[in-house]
Amino acid sequence: MADWDAIILGAGAAGMMCAAIAGQRGKRVLLVDHADQPGKKILISGGGRCNFTNIHTAADRYLSANPHFAKSALGRYSAQDFIALVDRYGIAWHEKTLGQLFCDGSAKQIVAMLEEECAIGGVTMALAQPVSDVTHGDGLYRVKLGAVDHRAPALVLATGGPSIPKMGATGFAYDIARQFGLAIVQPRPALVPFTLGEEDALFQALSGVSAPVEVRWNKTRFREAALFTHRGLSGPAMLQISSYWQHRTPIQVDFLPDLDADWLIQAKRDRPRAALRKVVGQALTERLADALLERVGLEGEMGNLSDKALRQLGARLHDWPFAPTGTEGYAKAEVTVGGIATAGLSSRTMEATKMPGLYAIGEAVDVTGWLGGYNFQWAWASGWAAGQAV
Ligand code: FAD
Repeated sequence: MADWDAIILGAGAAGMMCAAIAGQRGKRVLLVDHADQPGKKILISGGGRCNFTNIHTAADRYLSANPHFAKSALGRYSAQDFIALVDRYGIAWHEKTLGQLFCDGSAKQIVAMLEEECAIGGVTMALAQPVSDVTHGDGLYRVKLGAVDHRAPALVLATGGPSIPKMGATGFAYDIARQFGLAIVQPRPALVPFTLGEEDALFQALSGVSAPVEVRWNKTRFREAALFTHRGLSGPAMLQISSYWQHRTPIQVDFLPDLDADWLIQAKRDRPRAALRKVVGQALTERLADALLERVGLEGEMGNLSDKALRQLGARLHDWPFAPTGTEGYAKAEVTVGGIATAGLSSRTMEATKMPGLYAIGEAVDVTGWLGGYNFQWAWASGWAAGQAV
């Protein structure tokens, strides 16, 4: 006999949303987490202010082996739906940039809101509960918590991905998915800083310097800020491109995306007595200009430099190659690309097509958003879809 209508593993963003929706539909829901409080990643997100959604949410801002998979859930539970919920709780918010919505106050308000939604749905939370065993038989999933067995016809995997293990993140969802015959798309850290090698040691001196750039990898490009760090490259532009990047390939950085190719030739005509490092420094900041020019090995007064050399420099500043040696890995990755393969899931309900009653939602699934509130919107939308279905 079932103890619950649904057992949800993981009281993060997706699990809490799913539990609240299912509970409010009258389902008896057990929400389990090994952490002693729900929504820990929400609490640290967006610098403590939680970038809870993005008003430009669309499926083409997500990476997945099936780029169409996210459309159904994102269409049924939109950014506007989540904003309406936030507004109902009187949580003040603002748009920071590029459609990114943040709490004016604190991410704690989002967690408190989801806890309240769960309470309204009569959800039972089992926190600080390591799950030791998950099995299936006679149409019921059995989850062992300590010495007690809990049974339900529906089991939702919402334990996220392995990014930031020191916060309790694990690959547990993948293990359970595999156990029930679901495929996993090779996971890797994403929205993660790059590391640079010895040949780029010069840039370590720039640690802390930020610049608006356009970064490119293959056909993907992002125009946002890049930040030099003591280990390599970070900032929104680099985090975004890291989700697409593949090892042993270069990325290209345009340091002056707003200037045309011949701007240095024009500057030579206008200011022949000016030093090159002054001219480039005014466009880029002096520290960055010095490091880049040292690398190129060009200096002197503008009027003494050939048009050819200036054109080459201009082209290089528009197309500067970096060859990252790797990334800072799961320890620093905001999300994980890859995960439970969408091919085995219904895009409408998130239920496994070959394993009735098994659902997977949130970051555990092979759907990964851009930086900027897209990942939470996926957690809400996929959680909502499964919450309607269990
Ligand atoms: P999670 O929120 O990670 O929840 C998974 C839950 O499962 C956790 O509570 C965990 O304790 C539990 N769990 C894990 N393993 C087990 C186990 N074995 N047994 C029991 N329970 C387990 N996204 C945005 O959209 N906007 C942001 O501002 C933003 N900022 C971020 C900042 C940081 C520093 C990080 C790391 C991520 C950020 N993200 C942001 C990404 C976002 O946090 C995740 O995409 C989102 O939390 C995924 O939701 P989820 O419910 O799938 O997983």
